[in-house]
Amino acid sequence: MRTNLNYISTRGEVEKLGFEDVVLAGLARDGGLYLPETWPVLSPATIASFPSKSFAEIAVDVIHPFTGNEISRADLARMAEDAYATFDTGEVTPLHELKPGFTILELFHGPTLAFKDVAMQLLARLMDHVLAKRDRRATIVGATSGDTGGAAIEAFRTSKRVDVVILFPEGRVSDVQRRMMTTPPEENVHALAIRGTFDDCQALVKAMFNDHAFRDRVELSGVNSINWARIVAQVTYYFYAASRLGGGNSGPLSFAVPTGNFGDIFAGYVAKRLGLPIDKLIIASNENDILPRAVATGVYSMRDVIATSSPSMDIQISSNFERYLFEASGRDADLVRSLMTSLAAKGSFELGRLAPILKSEFEAVSATEQDVADCIRSTEAQFGYQLDPHTACAVVAADRVASGNTVILSTAHPAKFPDAIEAITKKRPPLPPGFEHLMTDSERFEVLPNSLAAVEDFVLSHTRVTAGVSR
Ligand SMILES: *Cc1c(COP(=O)(O)O)cnc(C)c1O
Repeated sequence: MRTNLNYISTRGEVEKLGFEDVVLAGLARDGGLYLPETWPVLSPATIASFPSKSFAEIAVDVIHPFTGNEISRADLARMAEDAYATFDTGEVTPLHELKPGFTILELFHGPTLAFKDVAMQLLARLMDHVLAKRDRRATIVGATSGDTGGAAIEAFRTSKRVDVVILFPEGRVSDVQRRMMTTPPEENVHALAIRGTFDDCQALVKAMFNDHAFRDRVELSGVNSINWARIVAQVTYYFYAASRLGGGNSGPLSFAVPTGNFGDIFAGYVAKRLGLPIDKLIIASNENDILPRAVATGVYSMRDVIATSSPSMDIQISSNFERYLFEASGRDADLVRSLMTSLAAKGSFELGRLAPILKSEFEAVSATEQDVADCIRSTEAQFGYQLDPHTACAVVAADRVASGNTVILSTAHPAKFPDAIEAITKKRPPLPPGFEHLMTDSERFEVLPNSLAAVEDFVLSHTRVTAGVSR
């Protein structure tokens, strides 16, 4: 019998929870993020079996150790098969060699053309599974800088047990991104345009989680990358890439990762903790460079958000960085709490003794808008391959600091950002087959001020969780 794996909060002030509760909880009640109490490790024999396994099979081997004894392997395997059958290729996340030693990992073959589908399709099935087991309902409220919202609405639109409300920054997402959120007609999914930035949207979501009466009233759940199941589902493709590129036989791979919220790069860190040999983990940012500045200077300090051609990384507070701080400090929840208090009070904190640890574990590069444009043009001219602007940040970063075999995580299809690509290449990238109706279907969304009361009112009047009863 497997013993259960419990989860603890980075702020150390709540009870441990099992995997199922963590999936439903999102953010911990002390404001922290959940991490496993102990780190599972995959045996070398398990990792060595991956070259002959499918993506879904690798996902089961990677994720099952994190579920403790709460989800059976058979149930997880069924959910993984289902989730990845929504992708347009059996490989799920195919690799494309750009030049020797420089390989693109295409994470955008899911239903909303961005890497968020990889985790969200599985998370929706996990949540429905847990809610069905408990005969409960839930309300999901999420903030999106563009891609999470569409991925969540797409993944949950057929859910019988979950209502979804997505907050996006008005006017700061692409038309394709907005339409992926606003065209699904199902009554359990709602898109809200907030008059503010992504960070405002994320702050509203956090405030709803910290309003415990509201949280309990609507059975609030989260699907942002603060949800542990998202991170864990993203770990799979690091192992998948390594398994298809010689399983590390030609030396450990480096990974260049477009990241804003520190979610995707933290999944790489988890892959390393699980036993995947990794050379360099490269943080790729756009001009919103809080992470590269933190690595370079040892000071984590917020600035105003700049709108760039890679809007899904237009972020100044990297929520998942808190998970890394907890690990780097040897799981010092008191320290994490004091750093987060400083961040809330004055918009910055000093990494202190954690600065050299951060620097030794990550490279970090910020790509300017000019770098991104040059990279997209030259990659197309040299290799006949079109990058999206997020992926271009990672190619710029890899060119600058990588050595040896490097995998570039490609987080979106270029057609998801047609205006940005057209401005750079003078050609509008066509949407792939199957998306013919997206730009003409009718839209449905409300515009709300950056106000907690207004958003809570909306959620209360649209959730199907009834007061006092959750059925
Ligand atoms: C969400 C997103 C990112 C950044 O992911 P993090 O969770 O912030 O690491 C990068 N590129 C695209 C296209 C995205 O949608």
